[in-house]
Amino acid sequence: MTHAAHALANEALWEKDRAHAVHPWTNFGPFEERGSLIFTRGEGCYLWDADGRRYFDAIGGMWCTNIGLGRREMADAIAEQALRLGYSNFFVDTGNDAAALLAAKLAELAPGDLNRVHFTTGGSTAVDTAIRMVAYYHHVRGHPEKTHVVSREASYHGSTYLTISVGKRYGDRIEEFRYKEDGIHHLSSPNLYRRPAGMDEDAFCDLLVAEFEDLIARVGADRIGGFIAEPIQASGGIVIPPAGYLKRMWEVCRRHDILFIADEVVTAFGRIGHWFASEAEFGIVPDMITTAKGLTSGYVPLGAVIFSDRIWATMAEGGHRWFSTGFTYSGHPVSCRAGLKNIEIMEREGLLARATDVGRYFEERLATLAELPLVGNVRGRKLMACVESVANRETKEPLPDEVGESKRISDACEAMGLMVRPMGHLNVMSPPLVITRDEVDFVVETLGQAIRQVTDELVREGVR
Ligand code: PMP
Repeated sequence: MTHAAHALANEALWEKDRAHAVHPWTNFGPFEERGSLIFTRGEGCYLWDADGRRYFDAIGGMWCTNIGLGRREMADAIAEQALRLGYSNFFVDTGNDAAALLAAKLAELAPGDLNRVHFTTGGSTAVDTAIRMVAYYHHVRGHPEKTHVVSREASYHGSTYLTISVGKRYGDRIEEFRYKEDGIHHLSSPNLYRRPAGMDEDAFCDLLVAEFEDLIARVGADRIGGFIAEPIQASGGIVIPPAGYLKRMWEVCRRHDILFIADEVVTAFGRIGHWFASEAEFGIVPDMITTAKGLTSGYVPLGAVIFSDRIWATMAEGGHRWFSTGFTYSGHPVSCRAGLKNIEIMEREGLLARATDVGRYFEERLATLAELPLVGNVRGRKLMACVESVANRETKEPLPDEVGESKRISDACEAMGLMVRPMGHLNVMSPPLVITRDEVDFVVETLGQAIRQVTDELVREGVR
């Protein structure tokens, strides 16, 4: 079924969107034909389209609707703040109560001495700011050459000119946009499924760490200022690194005076059962954490760079230097109020523990899909997971891109009232933390049925 087919009752709305709204990552051809699926309502884990059809949103918006949609108390908090103080300038030496309270709360929840919070408008602007802070920090310390940034393949860090260049997802290097390349280096993705044949996890980890050390030897520690990593790569394919990898990369950073930025735009606020994954799951206290998404559960835009007292002390040295960066909406009182309410709800309802419990069940149930012939790998941690399709389970060779099996699988799910995200050869899920065990069963059974259906089609078409 095309989107157009089930948007008939709202054709005018659908047509306005198709004719005028330019969506992120538009695929021009299919969009011209099909337009978009337009939602008008959401509650808990469910979405309703303009025709009243209901879908279970296993994507969680865009990895972000952590507490679930349609929360009255969240709407009330936002409305109350909008009425009382809907905006205030946050520049230089003016602030607002909501931002002060949220900054203090984040300092309490963040690991180690990460006690300084700089609010931004979302994930991209948080990462962009963090990377510029790397240069700032080293410059102040008398190392103006330490501006290079090390990132990894299959990473996604945002969509500003700088952050899209720092990230590198397969298939995203769109020539037309002419990404920035100087001063940015990409190491291999720590993807265990795609590690060299016959190599065990420890040896793979050694290889990845050696690659970083080789790069430092080649480029020079005097030029590399920062290393950025999602603790679990999200948009690049739910890549859970080998045991010990992040700790060892962090130690390399320490040895060479390279700041470690943990991009926790996805992994924070309960996605894998913790406020932040860096320390709780991987045993590291980074120098900076970037976050967004689950910080407000997507109700309003907000991002943050949370950084160490050590960085603050260095940057503030001298007393008369300016931290010359920021946005009109930095520290927006309505966004910060939403952040406070979001954390309050998560604490009161014990959503971290719940994400761990239901997340483990999700892992267990999803693992059963690994038996399907089209499925090469099922992987994930708690409430972030994916299923990877392959042409051949032995060689792990993917199907030709033009087969588009992940889109066909997600379309088949959609027809059965389930949203999962197609990405390359993956179908990705990050449901709200309030998902129940019964809903996990629904997601896994429906996805399984969709995969079987598409497999049958591919066999009929002679593709498999
Ligand atoms: N970092 C990571 C790890 C992300 O997944 C994303 C968004 N998917 C971003 C940064 C960018 O965040 P935003 O879209 O809010 O700018």
